[in-house]
Amino acid sequence: MLFGARSAIFAPVQNLGMIIIDEEHDLSYKSDMTPRYNAKDLAKYIAKQNNCPLVLGSATPDLETYYESENSKIKRYNLLYRANKSAMPDVEVIDLRTELASGNRSMISYRLNELMNQNLKNKKQTILFLNRRGYSTFVMCRDCGYVAKCKNCNISLTYHKFENKLRCHYCGYEQNVLKICPECGSDKVRYFGTGTQKLEEEVHNIFPNATTIRMDIDTVTKKNSHEEILNKFKNDNIDILIGTQMIVKGHHFPNVTLVGVISADGMLNIDDYRAPERAFQSLVQVARKSRKGK
Ligand SMILES: [Zn+2]
Ligand SMILES: [Zn+2]
Repeated sequence: MLFGARSAIFAPVQNLGMIIIDEEHDLSYKSDMTPRYNAKDLAKYIAKQNNCPLVLGSATPDLETYYESENSKIKRYNLLYRANKSAMPDVEVIDLRTELASGNRSMISYRLNELMNQNLKNKKQTILFLNRRGYSTFVMCRDCGYVAKCKNCNISLTYHKFENKLRCHYCGYEQNVLKICPECGSDKVRYFGTGTQKLEEEVHNIFPNATTIRMDIDTVTKKNSHEEILNKFKNDNIDILIGTQMIVKGHHFPNVTLVGVISADGMLNIDDYRAPERAFQSLVQVARKSRKGK
């Protein structure tokens, strides 16, 4: 048996009897670098050539896979119980519009605040999921509407407070923070939207005694740091883990009994035709991180 990541699909296995792709919905099976390939498509081809079965595993299959299983193009086997037979956690949807109307200007709802407090008292851990890194997600002039954009990619730049820079999350372009609008010269340049840096700052303001750790591309730098952060969260019993998509993968945290998704509907407003599908997958996968029961 050969275990491997994406490129294992190229291994010259003799006598291939079966290919298994776990978490088949995962975007990383598609390579963004040369050689460009999708390991899943390749697996289908290789399985056919070798006349062997291909097993796709997922709790949140991608739409094509699900569609094919609905139409009997591929055979579906339903797993009726979770691995540890634990129940899925209860999910509550909080409408922040009504909270705003009653005076809550925070991105953390009253309900989430209450549950986080409970967890802190009971020494249970919490995960906060926000799929946008940086501090503010866009910079705009209040007078003329100018939005700071990347000169290479034409997408809006994200403000990173700790580095005090504006950054393009696509190509990595970086520029100094704007104080004066380059279009109209106004000094009413303001910062909007919330990223993980700002969320962490807010959590510190609301819960000054809580310990936190943040995981996004900005904190994961050197090799294995991804593992280090998650191990630290688990072993040092840090109160709150704040992170992007990265926290969704792998790892089981027995002491996590609350997962808060911050501006969940924000995931729908990404210019990708798969945005609703990805949003659903992320929500289900992140909810599975929470153990039911206190
Ligand atoms: Zn302006
Ligand atoms: Zn760019």
